[in-house]
Amino acid sequence: MTKKQIIFCDFDGTITVNDNIVAIMKHFQPPGWDQLVEQVLAKTISIREGVGRMFALLPTSRKQEVVDFAIGNVRIRPGFQQLLDYCRHNGIEFYVTSGGIDFFVYPVLSQFPIPKDHIYCNGSDFSDNHIRILWPHACDEHCHNDCGMCKTAIIRRYSPEQYDRIMIGDSVTDFEGAKLVETVFARSILVDLCKDLGLNYYAFDDFHDIVKQLEELKVQ
Ligand SMILES: [Mg+2]
Ligand SMILES: [Zn+2]
Repeated sequence: MTKKQIIFCDFDGTITVNDNIVAIMKHFQPPGWDQLVEQVLAKTISIREGVGRMFALLPTSRKQEVVDFAIGNVRIRPGFQQLLDYCRHNGIEFYVTSGGIDFFVYPVLSQFPIPKDHIYCNGSDFSDNHIRILWPHACDEHCHNDCGMCKTAIIRRYSPEQYDRIMIGDSVTDFEGAKLVETVFARSILVDLCKDLGLNYYAFDDFHDIVKQLEELKVQ
């Protein structure tokens, strides 16, 4: 039996050109956000703690500004629609696994034919004084990374006996998942991690590169 290909694709810095959380923080400049980013990158605090504390710096009175900025700021990386078309034509399952937040992930992706239950991201609550991030897809008992949105918990639902698991990503939120899957498409600092760990990876700039590579892998 040939294995079914399944793709887990990151959102921020992968589907979109920018990292939207960093862009929001850079724009609104809530005092203390930059130290939190540094601490996440240095791994002295978890991604969940860092993201939660960053958004807690933003007052919900600015909700509309934050939402409008986040959505308006997004640029989609070239070739994304072509990758979706390629997946549909070739029976490849496509999931978005994002460490981003629902209020920008869903509106931005609504222009693409991706079923909502194929999009995993964090939630948000604007009912109090400051933005509270919700974590509907937190780590399971196998992951102790405190991811927030745990990509490995989702990937583990698809066994390597039945699936050829492919991850597409760029950064720290993809590190744990990259170690788990059979194939990684990487850009930015995820390339360095794949190199360091000797993972099976292909570097990419845009989604046209990925379609081309998937096509090449098919004929082998
Ligand atoms: Mg990313
Ligand atoms: Zn996790």
